[in-house]
Amino acid sequence: MKINVAQLLRASIGSVKDYEVKKAIDITGDGVDSLVQGKVRLTRTNRSILVKGALEADVGLTCGRCLGPFRRSLKVNLEEEYYPTADVDTGAAIAVPDEPGCFTIDQNHILDLTEAVRQYALLAIPMKPLCKENCAGLCPFCGQNLNRGPCGCPPEAADPRWSELSKLKELSKLKKEKGK
Ligand SMILES: [Zn+2]
Ligand SMILES: [Zn+2]
Repeated sequence: MKINVAQLLRASIGSVKDYEVKKAIDITGDGVDSLVQGKVRLTRTNRSILVKGALEADVGLTCGRCLGPFRRSLKVNLEEEYYPTADVDTGAAIAVPDEPGCFTIDQNHILDLTEAVRQYALLAIPMKPLCKENCAGLCPFCGQNLNRGPCGCPPEAADPRWSELSKLKELSKLKKEKGK
């Protein structure tokens, strides 16, 4: 996702340039690439190049309930300023703002979107992703993925709420018998 912005740096403030992005990058750092695509708009400001984009990332995730792998398309709204480090005409060094994590355009006027896209995409991943809203999860007793069907564990054992219920039923039965 490297864009040469020399021309845009020479252009007047407010000039824009649109780019199509389509690239596979490793978002989560687990060695698996995710396809990121969409449009970005680069705007020349008085001190930087502002990047705004609406991207979509096709990310491989692990379900927080059944632990199964699944893919999800995430919306990634990018908005970031990139500061030049060298004057586009003279090549003289330009000081960048003293901000941690500030994005820069390299000495050759190449703006690399990869790291910003990776960070924004990472933020778009939900804390506890679910493969589907009604994911049945794993049986707490035998560990079977219940999305693939019932596991054969007795229902009382499979759900503690049910066992409470059956206790109550037995209790009321006992009471009735005593009342006779
Ligand atoms: Zn699941
Ligand atoms: Zn089970």
